[in-house]
Amino acid sequence: MNSKPAQAMVVTPHPDDAEYGVAGTVARWISDGREVVYVVCTNGDKGSSDANIKPEELVKIREEEQMAAARSLGVREVIFLRHPDQGLEDTPEFRKELVRLIRLYKPETMVTADPYRRYVWHRDHRITGQVTLDAIFPYARDHFSYPDLMKEGLHPHMVREILLWASEDANYRSDITKTFHLKLAALRCHQSQVGHIPPQELEERLKQRHRVMAEGEDFLLAEAFHRVEISR
Ligand SMILES: [Zn+2]
Repeated sequence: MNSKPAQAMVVTPHPDDAEYGVAGTVARWISDGREVVYVVCTNGDKGSSDANIKPEELVKIREEEQMAAARSLGVREVIFLRHPDQGLEDTPEFRKELVRLIRLYKPETMVTADPYRRYVWHRDHRITGQVTLDAIFPYARDHFSYPDLMKEGLHPHMVREILLWASEDANYRSDITKTFHLKLAALRCHQSQVGHIPPQELEERLKQRHRVMAEGEDFLLAEAFHRVEISR
């Protein structure tokens, strides 16, 4: 682990969610010189309709795909927490893992899934979003939250901006017109997830989705988020 600070940390439930949610924005940040790290919470071993594939093979494939996608975008580092797919829980241990990483990398911006999407929402996404928000505030910020982390030199850190993807309450649209092709290329690294979709169809579907997200803006393609700014 390269623990020098990174400007942005993306906490993603499964391999591929970061590419769907934020890869166009990540590509733009990286071209602007910001350093980005990914934290992948689950091992993705339920993400296949192929009944013949062994879960441990799927984990390996999906980690390789995630690494390839991250490399293609220029993401500095990918940290795999390897919780069971469809088995993520809001536990003190998971929260502490995230606090540790926030204090280690000191990101200004955190990106994750919006936990407040209603009704039909993947439990791992809801829990990833919720526990990440809890980890940011108050646990990463407070001196007395984890005395043992303090002893390790992991001091409080306050994130300045939170972006939540898949929000029903988007208030920020990030221009990905110039980086859409990089997002698409990163998504295509996840062949176990998108390989069954004809390439042209994948491109059109994705473009349409991001056109809709850009409605009302003076640019063509956007990723939409609920954005929270935390004042000093
Ligand atoms: Zn997912």
